[in-house]
Amino acid sequence: MPIRPPTHAQLLRRARGRRQGDRDYDQRRRERDPALAFAARVYRSKRWQNLRALQLRREPLCEDCRRHGVVEPATEVDHVLGLVLRPDLAYDLANTQSLCDPCHARKSAAERRARRGIRR
Ligand SMILES: [Zn+2]
Repeated sequence: MPIRPPTHAQLLRRARGRRQGDRDYDQRRRERDPALAFAARVYRSKRWQNLRALQLRREPLCEDCRRHGVVEPATEVDHVLGLVLRPDLAYDLANTQSLCDPCHARKSAAERRARRGIRR
């Protein structure tokens, strides 16, 4: 049986040093990227956990869904201006919003795309 050549995605992963199921990968990325290291510290902190709980009590529904007339429980507390952009607003309640998981994932993906656009 012939051996299938590696896909483009597999080659890219190898070039970047990521193997499938590599548990240390995220840790190495955090160590290399100060913005990710800062975010990890924020999310581990008691201060953030308290702020997050307060925001979800204040606003238990997804604010993005509500703007579209949909009632959906919030599961995430998002930084309106992201941590990479405004680390000084990490613990500012006015810079947080309650989101459901799909809305938060959509916003985070858009922010990552925007950052890549700026960097490259
Ligand atoms: Zn939502």
